[in-house]
Amino acid sequence: MTTCGAVFVVDAGGCGGCLRELRLLAALDPAAFGTCATPRHATVLAATGPVTHQMANPLAQAAAALPDGTPVLAIGDCALDGGAFRDSATVLGGVGAVVPDARAVPGCPPTPDQLRAALGVR
Ligand code: SF4
Repeated sequence: MTTCGAVFVVDAGGCGGCLRELRLLAALDPAAFGTCATPRHATVLAATGPVTHQMANPLAQAAAALPDGTPVLAIGDCALDGGAFRDSATVLGGVGAVVPDARAVPGCPPTPDQLRAALGVR
């Protein structure tokens, strides 16, 4: 088993489907999928949903607090470009609008295998 370390999750908007998949993964394999309460000790940041205007600053602050070189994953189609919510007045855009080098994990929601691969969990 390979662990993915400590995942700091930011739900930036959306329907909660991608967040639920991440939570299920953590519940089913807690030894492999660790979460942490602060981005300062995270080994990866997983952001779900489109980024609402309200969540843009909290996401930017979380990304800025990560240790240098910590990857940011944009989980789900909404996190890529706003997805189903892209035309909403409350939505700024995808995670890339706040964290330009975020790595995309497409899907609505992504499959458990896609999430495990993106997080480096085997
Ligand atoms: S990508 Fe799909 S499952 Fe994930 S937050 Fe958007 S609508 Fe929900």
